[in-house]
Amino acid sequence: MLKPVIGLEIHCELNTKSKMFSGSKNEYEKMPNENISEIDLALPGILPLPNIEGVRKAIKLALALNCEIPDEVMFDRKNYYYADLPKGYQITQMTKPFGKNGYLDIEVDGKVKRVTIHQLHLEEDSASMDHFSNYSLINYNRAGVPLVEIVTDPVFYNEKEVVEFLESLRTIIKYLDVSDASSDKGELRVDVNISMKEESEEKLGVRAEIKNINSFNSVKETILYEEQRQREVLESGGKVIQETRRWVDDEKVTVSMREKVDAIDYKYYVEPNIPVVPITKEFISDIEKTIPELPNKKKERFISLGVNEKDAKTIIRNVDLCKFYDEVLTLGGDAKDASNWITTRLLGYMSANFLEVGDVYLTPEMLVNLMDMVKNGKISSQQAKEVFVKVLDQKNSPEEIVKSENMEQISDTDEIRSIVNKVLDENTTQVETYKSGKTNILGYLMGQVLKMSGGKVNPGVANKILNEEINKR
Ligand code: ADP
Ligand code: MG
Repeated sequence: MLKPVIGLEIHCELNTKSKMFSGSKNEYEKMPNENISEIDLALPGILPLPNIEGVRKAIKLALALNCEIPDEVMFDRKNYYYADLPKGYQITQMTKPFGKNGYLDIEVDGKVKRVTIHQLHLEEDSASMDHFSNYSLINYNRAGVPLVEIVTDPVFYNEKEVVEFLESLRTIIKYLDVSDASSDKGELRVDVNISMKEESEEKLGVRAEIKNINSFNSVKETILYEEQRQREVLESGGKVIQETRRWVDDEKVTVSMREKVDAIDYKYYVEPNIPVVPITKEFISDIEKTIPELPNKKKERFISLGVNEKDAKTIIRNVDLCKFYDEVLTLGGDAKDASNWITTRLLGYMSANFLEVGDVYLTPEMLVNLMDMVKNGKISSQQAKEVFVKVLDQKNSPEEIVKSENMEQISDTDEIRSIVNKVLDENTTQVETYKSGKTNILGYLMGQVLKMSGGKVNPGVANKILNEEINKR
């Protein structure tokens, strides 16, 4: 049976303050050609000055992806001509990429899969172009933005594995704070390489490369489409040709851009304008110290605290939500309870109102407070759900709401005893029924007690007192 084999090349723009080799701002800017300098435009006589923050962030990501780090910072020139590359070459890394032979473990259908990473290198982004019917516009804002390229081995066998890997990678990138990794702004772009082979066959088939896909959903659609296309070619006796294609989202198809007969000769050589600098152990260990607990570790920790797998995964996938949750734990909130509140109530409210964690009024302290009130019997868990919504809607603390809505449970035994006796006085026939042995009438009486108290008596305490008082009669 024919099966797809997939390898990925992922481009990720780093969120440094300035560009990789110039002092221009590295900021997403709507106005074209705002963030530019002589260096980005490749005016004569310019010299690149490497951005140390870009180097640090690339190495940080390489370390988080378990890569081997080289002994030197070294850049190479990749020579080619295109209108979006004014210098006529791109500064990139070929000889000593910042990461080699790394891996990332992902979980698909309950099984751990190790995705091996061939290499990770740092380069500069090109300018961007808008093409019209008989002219094109060029925007240099992106020219020189630090760009990390991650190349995986051809280790994926379906779209599910690919999307899971991309989601995991994006989460790590966000935890590391090396990029905002927003697909909308083109900060994370994926090239999908895909070929087909007989399952039993060792040798890989001829691949097509589908370039520059912006969303993970399009990645999925691309793979499904390409798998079908190549299958049809092969099953009808044809041959897949090695080529570069692109995904046309409006039509949900891939179309050919150019045939890749031989690898283009880029005449690489070491970039002579940037000195080669040794990478010291101290430099690496300083970077290592800035790597926070990564999502896989976080997930394990939450699960060990009693959170179920699915909730743990939901929480770690959202960096801000995870911060919120971690604070709740630090404040002593119960892990399981808090995960329930967060994954059902909080996320439900957020998605219904199109809000992010930072936009909701609830703080970790408030959630702990609310959970404590239930634990201490001050309010019932049913009431807590009402309070929760009111906190968000009315922008008021749980304590204020419980007070202003007069929701506090009555736990005072004397007060409950007097309510119970009033109910028993008013329901003499039911008391007789109980005495005659039909004890399930207690349920009715308990209902009356709740009703008289406006639903505020602590049900456990009230039940006990009702038993005591009725048996005294
Ligand atoms: P290039 O630099 O020409 O794009 P590489 O050999 O560096 O080529 O491979 C680029 C990507 O293509 C990698 O992600 C790799 O895993 C993937 N790849 C290589 N060969 C195949 C194949 N036969 N089928 C699917 N993916 C492949
Ligand atoms: Mg490629």
